[in-house]
Amino acid sequence: MAPAHRATRGGEAVGMGDLFIAGAWVGARAGGVREIRCPADGSLVTTVDEAEADDTEAAIAAAREAFDHGPWPRLPFAERAAVLDKVADLLERDKAEVARLEALDTGKRYVEAEYDVDDVVSVFRHYATLSEEPRRVEVGQENVDSVVVREPVGVCALITPWNYPLLQTSWKVAPALLAGCTFVLKPSEITPSSAIHLMRILEELELPAGVGNLVLGAGPSAGGPLSIDPRVDLVSFTGGIGTGKQLMRNAAETVKKVALELGGKNPNIVFEDAHFDTALDFALTAVFLHSGQVCSAGARLLVQESLHDRFVDALVERASTIRLGGPFDESAETGPLTSAAHRDKVEAYVAAGLAEGAVLRLGGARPEDPALADGFYYLPTVLDRCDTSMSVTKEESFGPVLTVETFVEEADAIRIANDSIYGLAGGVWTTDPDKARRVAAALRMGTVWINDYHPYVAQAEWGGYKQSGIGRELGAVGLEEYLETKHIWTNTAPEPQHWFAPGD
Ligand code: NAD
Repeated sequence: MAPAHRATRGGEAVGMGDLFIAGAWVGARAGGVREIRCPADGSLVTTVDEAEADDTEAAIAAAREAFDHGPWPRLPFAERAAVLDKVADLLERDKAEVARLEALDTGKRYVEAEYDVDDVVSVFRHYATLSEEPRRVEVGQENVDSVVVREPVGVCALITPWNYPLLQTSWKVAPALLAGCTFVLKPSEITPSSAIHLMRILEELELPAGVGNLVLGAGPSAGGPLSIDPRVDLVSFTGGIGTGKQLMRNAAETVKKVALELGGKNPNIVFEDAHFDTALDFALTAVFLHSGQVCSAGARLLVQESLHDRFVDALVERASTIRLGGPFDESAETGPLTSAAHRDKVEAYVAAGLAEGAVLRLGGARPEDPALADGFYYLPTVLDRCDTSMSVTKEESFGPVLTVETFVEEADAIRIANDSIYGLAGGVWTTDPDKARRVAAALRMGTVWINDYHPYVAQAEWGGYKQSGIGRELGAVGLEEYLETKHIWTNTAPEPQHWFAPGD
């Protein structure tokens, strides 16, 4: 039953609630609520309102009204940038609380959640430094003033996943706000808490009503209208490839702008001349960070055949000592998977890989430690002797599962690495700088790290080749997604042209 403060009257939500629509916190019209539980131990984190399509339609209406008639899109660019700086200030003020919420919702280590908040702050700070000036075009005619201006796209549907909830939200909310757009944000239904906090910050900063709206709930129901409703101009989505394709199909009906970040199956290529200990160390981080629930995870190890035995033996030994635990267990090195359903999916991929001929070198099971029994833990897993025909190598398991493939020559490494529908990211380990450059140039991926893995910088663009996505996030280019380009041609001394002869 909905708590009393989430009352509905005549089908209309009244009073306090967790949905932020038209500048007010409201409950779901149908009175639905959802329990949010920590994946580390199943404990109740909070209970939030669960939107349905009509709540989301109300949020879209509010965003449309704020865009068409409100002040936000018409403010000078610099004024909106100043607001983003204030968002960053308030996130810094609230860092401990936001990190706590994020850690509880996702099950990730608190310290990682703190790093995430730092990254979110850097995203808002970065966008706050950007500016937009009209561009004059020299057309060679005295009586013409020709100028190209950038204008906000309009109402944006911002749909985010559960692995880095606030960071992925910031990649969308910051440029959308800076551009002058209005938005409806729909975070993953299982990790809503940091998005609620962000909206409270926007409320504290007194953004005009309807500029930022928040709906919570399941994808197809709460999120359904976002890619269909003609009042939405842009859909920016980060999540699974199947969902992304569906949203793109939906958006085609009204030709919405679409930006998609759809994950990857990323190769981490280790040549025999790599710095052994460093490459080994990063191979672990690449795949086991956040238990592999990272779109850029180096889940495919491509190791040169001559190095295979020594490298994989050492990797298995190190991975076998990784300590699992909850967000506030200071001895833990990584946490649980996000849900029971997600762990089931990871288990199914491992089973399929073994059935397809992979050799289990480590893990492949849930931990036996009774202290972890209430969480959705899965042991770091290494599958050796894999190839690109196997589903566990081709598709995202999005779990702590490393597949090992080998290559003999540099050209093989490139061919095998590129043999994927995805093209998000990859790593190259070698002490030969020419080889590193050649391989990086040949990889069909949006990000390539040479002798590194997973570094993050808010100023560089992020996005995928091939089916990893459309468009880029972060950097100045991230802003481009949220701006339209308008050419205004002014004839300052109009005169009849007499192209067609005037009548007598
Ligand atoms: P998902 O596709 O199931 O859900 C993502 C979001 O879309 C959620 O908010 C969900 O509720 C919503 N959604 C689902 N169906 C919808 C619909 N019909 N209409 C509107 N919204 C809908 O993905 P997930 O399981 O939450 O996230 C994990 C996936 O995200 C992984 O596959 C991962 O690769 C991907 N990912 C990609 C990146 C990247 O930068 N490329 C980053 C993080 C995660």
